[in-house]
Amino acid sequence: MTSPKPSARPEIPQAIRGTQDIIGAAAESFGFVVATFERLRRLYRFGRVEMPVFEKTPVFARSLGETTDVVSKEMYSFDDRGGESLTLRPEFTAGLARAYLTNGWQQFAPLRLATHGPLFRYERPQKGRYRQFHQLDAEVIGSGEPETDVEMLCLADHLLHELGIADGVTLQLNTLGDAVSREAWRHALIGYFRDHRASLSEDSQDRLERNPLRILDSKDPRDQPFTAAAPRIDDFLSAEAQDFFGCVTQGLAAAGVAWTRAPGLVRGLDYYRHTAFEFVTDRLGAQGTVLGGGRYDGLIAALGGPPTPAVGWAAGIERLAMLVTESGAQFAPRLDVAVVAESIGEETKASALVAYLRRAGLTCEAFVSGSPRKRYDRALKANPALAISFDVRHETGGRTMRFLKPEALDRLRVQTLLDGWDCPVSA
Ligand code: ATP
Ligand code: MG
Repeated sequence: MTSPKPSARPEIPQAIRGTQDIIGAAAESFGFVVATFERLRRLYRFGRVEMPVFEKTPVFARSLGETTDVVSKEMYSFDDRGGESLTLRPEFTAGLARAYLTNGWQQFAPLRLATHGPLFRYERPQKGRYRQFHQLDAEVIGSGEPETDVEMLCLADHLLHELGIADGVTLQLNTLGDAVSREAWRHALIGYFRDHRASLSEDSQDRLERNPLRILDSKDPRDQPFTAAAPRIDDFLSAEAQDFFGCVTQGLAAAGVAWTRAPGLVRGLDYYRHTAFEFVTDRLGAQGTVLGGGRYDGLIAALGGPPTPAVGWAAGIERLAMLVTESGAQFAPRLDVAVVAESIGEETKASALVAYLRRAGLTCEAFVSGSPRKRYDRALKANPALAISFDVRHETGGRTMRFLKPEALDRLRVQTLLDGWDCPVSA
């Protein structure tokens, strides 16, 4: 006779590769990054905008360009039940440009926008690189002045300082020139790389005809000797483009924002103009770029809108949060008051006091469950500035409330508050 099979346990579902469940110090750092960004974007008068997490696929395919890594390899695209191809947003800018046009936001130009939230890219997951990650994003649409580029860079720099992680993060700055400069440079790059075609990596050979600027971005060691010696944009800048870059660098000097020149820093797509930048650190291993952006004057026109200058940046929240955690910042909210019901029957009173003190703005926790004897120990473990105990055993002169551990917190303040507390406590 066979014994009945033990009922099989259902298999525990697994998370999707490259997604994260964030808790504890990492989650606190994440929240701190978002809160700091929210505070600063108000200071700089950027309006908040909420965007859909998915768009019709062409929004990204057209604005990012079919030849970019994001579009060719990294997009999460699927057909919905109506047969339409949709894509989970891999970045904010394209959706914002779409929204600018479809909602007639031209009337508000120059439009200063800030948002943050999840993005999706099918990448190889590793430290600092996920398939669902999160960005802060700031954009100014409809402003072509170099002062706006400076302002964007100041906001980014200010953010890093307010997060306490500016040390060891470098602003790498480049200019891609205007359309004329950029085209002349592109021609020179194609000519130069063609001469070395056979020595380049397969990827770069492929980029040569389609998107030669991106060869400069290659991390393949086979490409590096050639990218280092490639023609530089400086030799092709028009007088206007030189002036523009000059205004940006003067503005940064005036604002006290340090930077280094990165002549190989490019944005592959035609609609990028002038300023391109990244904030980079070597403290995060290979994923060292925490924030990147630039001017994209041609994008809105590429989506069918009127010529509209724009500049923006995006920062990876996880990468910023890692630096914040590494900096040793502490976020565990300090517990002002622990209220302990050390005797059975005092629980309601303890809970009522906690509710009252919380409304008065103190962080409080009630210790009212489990063995009464252990409640006090648990309360002290939570390290409150002040502990208040309700304990009939200690009743003296009709008093059942005792102040214990009257350390950092102003005990007088609590006592003053309690004067107005009408709960049945014999005092
Ligand atoms: P990378 O060179 O690291 O792939 P990127 O050029 O693709 O970055 P952007 O599209 O400019 O990055 O996005 C801006 C910022 O968003 C990056 O600097 C980084 O901090 C963050 N980021 C980009 N992709 C990821 C990802 N897969 N996981 C976590 N953060 C990311
Ligand atoms: Mg990438």
